[in-house]
Amino acid sequence: LVRLRARLARSQNSLGKGLLTLLSREHLDEDTWEEIEETLLTADVGVAPTQELVDRLRERVRVLGTRTPDELRALLREELVALLGDYDRTVHTESPQDVPGVVMVVGVNGTGKTTTTGKLARVLVADGKSVVLGAADTFRAAAADQLQTWGDRVGARTVRGPEGGDPASIAYDAVKEGIAEKADVVLVDTAGRLHTKTGLMDELGKVKRVVEKHGPLDEILLVLDATTGQNGLIQARVFAEVVDITGIVLTKLDGTAKGGIVVAVQRELGVPVKLVGLGEGPDDLAPFEPAAFVDALIG
Ligand code: GDP
Repeated sequence: LVRLRARLARSQNSLGKGLLTLLSREHLDEDTWEEIEETLLTADVGVAPTQELVDRLRERVRVLGTRTPDELRALLREELVALLGDYDRTVHTESPQDVPGVVMVVGVNGTGKTTTTGKLARVLVADGKSVVLGAADTFRAAAADQLQTWGDRVGARTVRGPEGGDPASIAYDAVKEGIAEKADVVLVDTAGRLHTKTGLMDELGKVKRVVEKHGPLDEILLVLDATTGQNGLIQARVFAEVVDITGIVLTKLDGTAKGGIVVAVQRELGVPVKLVGLGEGPDDLAPFEPAAFVDALIG
């Protein structure tokens, strides 16, 4: 939490602090409520959630009457946590069958997919799990090397194929390797070309189908770059049409004041943000915990 707070402090604090300052005004007139709305919209919270939150805040402030700073802080905290929703945010890697848990990581290139896969491997290994990495991003030339570097660093074997090889066959081999090694988890990094939806659908669909030949797929994590705002939402929509996303990883939250995208993307997909990326380093992947997140926002 301390680390999360420090990371978010630089970029996001303005959102929570801004809201708190506005709410603390003696007279909460229409202009102030509009400013509150604008603050939320600027932070990418999205139109409908912003409206809901403002309505609830207005109602609660009205009921409260005079407000002490502590009361306001508590009220804002509660409402923001409620806005983030009550989801199961566990990354499920316990396969119900006697095969490794399989997690497929999808997203547009550049969002931090490979880095996230590496960081997640590190978390799992630190948790005592044995991990196999599948370098099925054969589109980006350096992706397999990059993943292997992560694998070597954290102690996970990396299964890779020839450059430009068939992603599905690499994914298949990775899971096969995981089964042979009796690994606990196989993480499959995929390519995120958004050139055409059919191309993406064909490729990811095929990866998914071949992986499922070995057993159930436990998670499909969508990696989104928090700094891309509306564009990220459009990407999310496209991917959700192609595969059944089970969780979202929001990366680069350290580099944006637009943390409200967490709310917007969950609404868009109806799927929880499970992990957040807070930097480029190996320890910069954290479980997403609404209460801690909001505490970091409000400061
Ligand atoms: P991919 O093409 O989606 O696999 O993207 P990469 O994993 O290669 O990441 C693209 C860039 O984003 C790299 O320079 C990463 O170090 C950086 N990156 C990834 N996650 C984060 C994050 O949470 N915060 C920051 N600041 N940078 C990140």
